[in-house]
Amino acid sequence: MADDCMLCSAERVTDWLHEDDDCWVAECIVCRTPMVVWRTHGLPEPHDEARLIAHLERIAAERYGDDGYYVDPERRRIPDHWHAHARPAGGFFDPASELYGKY
Ligand SMILES: [Zn+2]
Ligand SMILES: [Zn+2]
Repeated sequence: MADDCMLCSAERVTDWLHEDDDCWVAECIVCRTPMVVWRTHGLPEPHDEARLIAHLERIAAERYGDDGYYVDPERRRIPDHWHAHARPAGGFFDPASELYGKY
């Protein structure tokens, strides 16, 4: 737990789409795409990471269709707390984002 980490504080600024004991999935406040966040501050082992990604994929498939998304594991803003985005195929932001279509 890091005091100044936005993902540790886990404020419910957007709707949560999934939560369990080791992760939660919510819309990213910037991208508005589904984002899975590990509850632990740090980086998981690969087998844990695969399980977390599976939650994200289920929610992304409901939203964008089975082939309508890709998982973006790059942590741009918060590199030391594991999270991953599911983005619409061929895009970066969800159409709900103010930034959609600007990049
Ligand atoms: Zn954190
Ligand atoms: Zn984002």
